Order: sequence, then structure tokens, then C-alpha cells
Amino acid sequence: MAVFLQRRQQVEAETTKSSKLRVVSTNSILDDMVKNVGGDQVKHYSIVQRGTDPHEYEPKPADISATAEADVIFYNGLNLETGGNGWFKKLIKSSRKSFDKDVFAASKGVKTKYLTTNVNEPDPHAWLDLANGIKYVQTISQTLQQKDPKHAATYQKNATQYIAKLTKLHAEAQTKFEKIPSAQRLLVTSEGAFKYFSAAYHVRAAYIWEVNTEAQGTPAQMKTALKKIRASEVKSLFVESSVSPKSMRKLAQETHLPIASTIFTDSLAAEGKPGDTYYSMMKWNLDHIYQGLTRS
Ligand SMILES: [Zn+2]
Repeated sequence: MAVFLQRRQQVEAETTKSSKLRVVSTNSILDDMVKNVGGDQVKHYSIVQRGTDPHEYEPKPADISATAEADVIFYNGLNLETGGNGWFKKLIKSSRKSFDKDVFAASKGVKTKYLTTNVNEPDPHAWLDLANGIKYVQTISQTLQQKDPKHAATYQKNATQYIAKLTKLHAEAQTKFEKIPSAQRLLVTSEGAFKYFSAAYHVRAAYIWEVNTEAQGTPAQMKTALKKIRASEVKSLFVESSVSPKSMRKLAQETHLPIASTIFTDSLAAEGKPGDTYYSMMKWNLDHIYQGLTRS
């Protein structure tokens, strides 16, 4: 009898543990949004780790089993996960999951911007505009509520609080950036990841290469970037945390401009460091870009 009871307790404990919704996201930014909305009710997992480029990726055995066991899978969409021969589609197929049933694009409902070099291809970096990030959070919240109606009220409450925080940061940034003289309002980065950011905060963007999956830092690309910088009164350059700083260092040498800061585009910072959440990476970017563009 005692053994039976013990076994029953064990089964109950396991059921409670596994009753948490298992949510897999393709990258650390989406994973952090899931964590904010899901709170204690979800078990979350990021496929691409912090500091790693999500455009090109080779899933590891742990990613494959997490995806196969997941109740919900979020991906960015807008062509982010299509590099490296479409690693994400292959992963979904081999895990026997279905798009729109188990697998959801967090960017649903976002107004797509397209690449300059290939006008048919969406630019994936929508989350760099906080207003889009808020749409991601709404999609995540609605999906979690549908998948786990028992905890719908909790997801709704968490999302509302989180969205309020993001909305405040977005409004503050818009007011702040308006005050920068127009000729100085040029953001120079390695990857052209800032189309959505540019539109939201009225800062023009220049870059060396347009997307991380392309040829990077070719002489022609360096020349175009130099020309744009020289035609502006920009005070400093920036380099992203998930790319090699080599090309930007070369650009800094040639223009005698400082690299003001590392900023975050495709990945969060390591846990415990500034920029380790979506909110904190956006705050870091907005603060450091503002300081870099206004330095005297
Ligand atoms: Zn990117």
C-alpha cells in the first residue's frame, strides 16, 4: 500500500511538472517574450542561443528533441530562419509539427518592409521597432491563451503589464530622437538591420552589407558605406554583438570616426549582462545610439 501511494505521488508530481506548456522559440528575443507572457506556466526553450546569428543555423540534437516535444513553437518569419538551406523548415518537418497548428510566426500582422537589394524578400528585423515587438507579444499571448485556456487570464495579465512597459519605452525614444539635428541622424552598422527601427525613430540607416546571410564587407560594399558616411555629419559608428567587428573597425579607421558602442540586433546579451532581455536590449540600443549620434 505504501509503495502504491508513493508511486501515485510520483506520478502526480510528474503530471504537474509536464502540465506546463512547452514552448520552443527560434531565438533568444522571442524566447524572452514568451518568458514574459508565460511566466511560471510555461517551460521555454530557445533554439539559437544568445550571441549566435539566427539567419544561418544548424540544429543540434537537443534542439531536435525540444522541438519534437513542444506544444507550441514560435519563429520570427519574414525570412529570418531561411538561411543555411532553410534549417527551420527542415526541423519542423522532421519533428512532425505543422505550421499554424503547432508552429506560429510571431511577426504575424506586422507591416513587412523589403530588402533594397532584393525587393521580393522581406527584411526580418521587425522587432527593432518596439511597436512591432508589441505585436509579437500580442500574438504570443493569444497563441498561449488558445493552447492553454486554463491559464488564459494569467497570460493576458502578464502581456498587458509587459506591453505597458514596452509602450512607455517606445514613446520616450520617439520624443528623444526627434531632437537630434537631421544631418547627424544617421545610424551606421555592419548589417542593414535597421529599416524598421529607422522608420519608427526617424533615423536614416547606412550599412556595409544588407543581410547577414550575404557576402559580407566586400570592397564595393565598403565603398558605398564610406560615401554615405562622408555625405553626412554623423559622429560615430556602431557594431552589432552578433557579427564580426572586423569590417566596422576598418570603416572606423578610414573615416576617423569612433565606434560608439556595441548594439544588439539578432540576439540578446548573455544572461546577467546589460541587454539580456528584449526590453533591456532595446533600451541599451536606444540609449547608446542616442549618445553616439549626439556626441560633440
Ligand atoms: Zn540580422
